[in-house]
Amino acid sequence: MVSEEQATATPVVVQKYGGTSVGSTSRICAIADRIASSLNKSSRLVVVLSAMGKTTDELVTLAHQVTEEPCGREMDLLLASGEQVSVSLLGLALQDRGVQAISLTASQCGIRTDSTFNIARIESIETSRILQEMDAGRVVIVTGFQGLSHEQEITTLGRGGSDITGAALAVALGAKVCEIYTDVAGVFSADPSVVPNARLWTEISYEEAIEMASSGAKVLHPRAAEVCMAYDVPIHVRSSFANGDGTWIRGVGDMVMEQAAVVGVSSDRKVAKVTLLNVPDRPGLAAEVFEDLAGEDISVRLIIQSASSEGLGRITFVLDEVYVPKAEVLGTAWKSTGLCGDAIIERDVAKISIIGSRLASTPGLAARMFSVLASHGVNIDCISSSEMKIACVIAAERLDESVRAVHDEFFSETKRASTVA
Ligand code: ADP
Ligand code: ASP
Ligand code: MG
Repeated sequence: MVSEEQATATPVVVQKYGGTSVGSTSRICAIADRIASSLNKSSRLVVVLSAMGKTTDELVTLAHQVTEEPCGREMDLLLASGEQVSVSLLGLALQDRGVQAISLTASQCGIRTDSTFNIARIESIETSRILQEMDAGRVVIVTGFQGLSHEQEITTLGRGGSDITGAALAVALGAKVCEIYTDVAGVFSADPSVVPNARLWTEISYEEAIEMASSGAKVLHPRAAEVCMAYDVPIHVRSSFANGDGTWIRGVGDMVMEQAAVVGVSSDRKVAKVTLLNVPDRPGLAAEVFEDLAGEDISVRLIIQSASSEGLGRITFVLDEVYVPKAEVLGTAWKSTGLCGDAIIERDVAKISIIGSRLASTPGLAARMFSVLASHGVNIDCISSSEMKIACVIAAERLDESVRAVHDEFFSETKRASTVA
């Protein structure tokens, strides 16, 4: 047993394993072997798990078989069950290897969230139970993706939310690192399943990770990077399948290399475009539209208001596909109150983005992105740009080839010199 003094002096490491990494009982045994052989006295370990493989998707499918639009409390109770299976199996596997371990649900280890079912936010973590278990020499295994609201209800954090649990625990426990174990070697310059020759980064900044993740790079949840950035806890993204150095995500001041102008080409299929036609040209109307969207907790990713003719204009915005049902209801209401002549929702669109912290200070990058898309005959529907990102909405069916072409423009050996520091 670790003495109290030793315990408080011993740094904590948080490891999070994603769905593929615990996708079968043999994978869970492999993780147990890995943990058992790497355990040492120089750190204390908290392990956060996702549900096994595609379990969460299967639970969503089940819910759709009993109701058209599953949501709210019952949905969260259902979805949260997936992680309970994986943590208890890892607990058994570790104990079988002689490792003292205990699995806990997020509620049992004090993860408190707000009351927004399906997309709750962690408000606080009461760490005493975890600390007590670690002090007793146990590896603590925690269900990712969930928490307990003030009303004592089980909530979930949104898809991919186990990364957020890992990050929040790392911060709450003052961990020296939050390790994210996944099915790829680290963070690449594009999704390696779409761009096989994507570049693996040794390190990127928190800001770059947030921009990449929020524009579709699924490897890390953007809120996980935000949480770690706020408290300066480094994230180490690594493969659970192979040994490798992975990617460090940390503050710019701690980085060894100068950042590249473009660090990633991200893509997001899970978006939809809403166009409001024949919108009367009068003050306060855009405010009304976006207040209604905010009232439904819908965040909008891109907005274009085009000039009006004959007193009627057009407002276009892009939102996450999950918000389409709510947007449909709002569209019908807006039409009936005369706020717009029609509300058209298109799901067959996608977003392609280039990301980099020196984007704004490096001239010509937008032109290169647009030229490549044009040379492939890909029509750009909407464009948005910010300090670190240029995003284009295009037809979903052209997405993968566009990602490969844009990636090639910025990362192929012959063109790289002008883009990568
Ligand atoms: P986990 O189940 O471990 O949470 P995810 O499926 O959520 O894993 O995320 C890992 C996947 O993210 C990879 O298999 C990869 O296809 C995808 N991905 C998308 N963009 C990137 C990127 N830029 N770098 C690495 N992986 C990426
Ligand atoms: N199991 C949840 C999901 O599939 C959470 C996670 O894997 O991060 O979204
Ligand atoms: Mg994930």
